[in-house]
Amino acid sequence: MNNLIELTSGDITRLDVDAIVNAANNSLLGGGGVDGAIHRAAGPELLAECRTLGGCETGTAKITKGYALPARHVIHTVGPVWHGGNGGEQELLASCYRQSLLLAKQHALRTVAFPAISCGVYGYPLQAAAQVAIRSVREFATDPGSVEKVYLVCFGDEMLEVYHGLL
Ligand code: ADP
Repeated sequence: MNNLIELTSGDITRLDVDAIVNAANNSLLGGGGVDGAIHRAAGPELLAECRTLGGCETGTAKITKGYALPARHVIHTVGPVWHGGNGGEQELLASCYRQSLLLAKQHALRTVAFPAISCGVYGYPLQAAAQVAIRSVREFATDPGSVEKVYLVCFGDEMLEVYHGLL
């Protein structure tokens, strides 16, 4: 259990894992931040598949192939926009991690990498988000048959320091 979570820093699109998670928006039709980076690296076929999915509710997740990415799959999840913390943000963010890991389990995926969902333009406070991420991953991973390795990918030193402090 102690080696379930691994911290890494850098660009999630470079990782050779069974799935990378995309911090997408409700349309699933691409955006800025990590979403833009994933679509650029995966190529136009990813957007074509996303168009068939009919969007994605906040706190839920959908899976596609990885196309030109080293990762075999992309799990698209939509984090909450931070509105001060009384709008169910914590539960929605936890749900993103759980639903993504549930999809991974259903597809028998062993290695999954997450960006810091909602920690960019969606404005979730980093410390609070990192706590939710770690707790949700640890809780889910006690399920038999779930993922073996979860990479928490930090894009920048600030996120890395927050996660280091908590792990
Ligand atoms: P959100 O809309 O959910 O806040 P963002 O893409 O704006 O999503 O940011 C989510 C997190 O992803 C932020 O911590 C941001 O620094 C990080 N990020 C941006 N680009 C990449 C990348 N290429 N690889 C990994 N993480 C990234």
